[in-house]
Amino acid sequence: MSWFSELDRLQPLVDDLAFLPVGWGNEGKGPMLNGWQKHAGFSVDQLQTADGMRSVGARTGLLTGPLLCFDFDGETALGLGIYPWEATTWQVHRDNDPFRLKVLCRPTPEQLEMLPQQLDGTVEFQGKTITAPKQDDAKGEALEVFFFGGRQVIVLGEHPSSGGNYFWPAGLGPEALNAPPDDWWAHAVSIALKQTALAASGSRPSKTRNGTRRLDPCPICGRHSGRGGSALWCDETSDGLILCMPGSTFSAEQSHGPLSIGQVVNGYALVKRTGDVLTFKPHQPLPCRRKRNARNQHLARLAVTAS
Ligand SMILES: [Zn+2]
Repeated sequence: MSWFSELDRLQPLVDDLAFLPVGWGNEGKGPMLNGWQKHAGFSVDQLQTADGMRSVGARTGLLTGPLLCFDFDGETALGLGIYPWEATTWQVHRDNDPFRLKVLCRPTPEQLEMLPQQLDGTVEFQGKTITAPKQDDAKGEALEVFFFGGRQVIVLGEHPSSGGNYFWPAGLGPEALNAPPDDWWAHAVSIALKQTALAASGSRPSKTRNGTRRLDPCPICGRHSGRGGSALWCDETSDGLILCMPGSTFSAEQSHGPLSIGQVVNGYALVKRTGDVLTFKPHQPLPCRRKRNARNQHLARLAVTAS
């Protein structure tokens, strides 16, 4: 297999990253060994002789690399203001689909300090922005960002279902692995902040991998993609929550003044504040509360009449 000759280029990274042989089981692509989440990784020699290997994975997260992955899945995922051609770092493309690719980065210690702590005490995170929902006849499209020891990314080899091969564009091989550009990192941090906000709201995006949808524009702060091409955005979750991210140009409190919990803005009630993220829920005046109020008013009026 021709891609085997590229394995040597992984050599300088074997101490920093955990490379894992990936085969194709019944359930698709996945690491070939049990306990891969804790495995220190294979050497290049071990990869070269691994039986049944069809591709090579690398674990992401804080403990190896640290390795951060931006996974662009589909043409619409390239329209979010984060453009692969603007990042000079390791990129894993596919030779039969120009719109499915991964950009790998190694955040700096200073960048890592900007990450919020999650409920489980780690700073690892993952989040998916759905850019085109799944249809009967088409795969869904999304930009997914992950930095999570329970996730690996394929860096070399064959793609199971399509017959395509992964490749590294010239100048963007493993030698180029680099810190993410500032606006990419700002986006990654916003994904991490949204994960903490979702966990605080009782949603479990990391379990279900449902993903959120970018709001363009955001009904609360008005953030939209037109001006400045910011890599920050506000999201709507699958259960209708809005995660509003304040920034320098768009901010709910810049537009509406200081907000308190329960306050309603443009039909949405602020339900939670998690770090910078404001979580809103569609505001529905409760019919039962209205009824109760009417009943209380009626009783109060009767009491006045009686006295
Ligand atoms: Zn917003």
